[in-house]
Amino acid sequence: MAKYTGPVCRQCRREGMKLYLKGDRCYTEKCAIDRKAYAPGQHGQHSRRKLSEYGLQLREKQKARRIYGILERQFSKYFVMAERQKGITGENLLQILERRLDNVVYRLGFASSRVEARQLVTHNHFQLNGHKANIPSILVKVGDVLQVKEKSLNSPKFIELKENIAHKTPPAWLDLDKENMTGRVLALPSKEHLDLPLEEHLIVELYSR
Ligand code: SF4
Repeated sequence: MAKYTGPVCRQCRREGMKLYLKGDRCYTEKCAIDRKAYAPGQHGQHSRRKLSEYGLQLREKQKARRIYGILERQFSKYFVMAERQKGITGENLLQILERRLDNVVYRLGFASSRVEARQLVTHNHFQLNGHKANIPSILVKVGDVLQVKEKSLNSPKFIELKENIAHKTPPAWLDLDKENMTGRVLALPSKEHLDLPLEEHLIVELYSR
């Protein structure tokens, strides 16, 4: 499936729930799903279609892809990786998605959405363990240290960010040094750490067909 280039909020309306793709706007009354709580399209308002088992599984996978902003092919690769790991495949998959560098930037509060986080990463504003890190799909490991580059710290964007993260509490698997704009991976994320309404077993069932 090609990259989605349509209106961002349409994706939330398609899934019938907030996916928090637009940062701060998602928490305001401007949120499209609060204003139009029905599926997009001509018949969206009147559609009462009951989804088949396959439909439910497919929607769950699309929801996960949209939340993390991942293309179909990459998502399938993550599923294969998850299957090869020890443990429960669905939980392994969620862990891999959470470990992406762009997600970690977002979780630490260095960006207001995963979309913005990805942009900041590709624009080369971060270092991982002291080295250049401009690939959003890098998977972090326990002990990794992510920091905003010194040069970027003085830009208006990061000066503002530093004020914003003052009230930020990162998830328990990450440590945030607000003063130095540095994050450390304390543990690999597990399902309890995640606040996402994803039923990963449906995704596993879909790929197991
Ligand atoms: Fe989704 Fe955010 Fe748009 Fe609301 S504002 S519909 S949560 S992307």
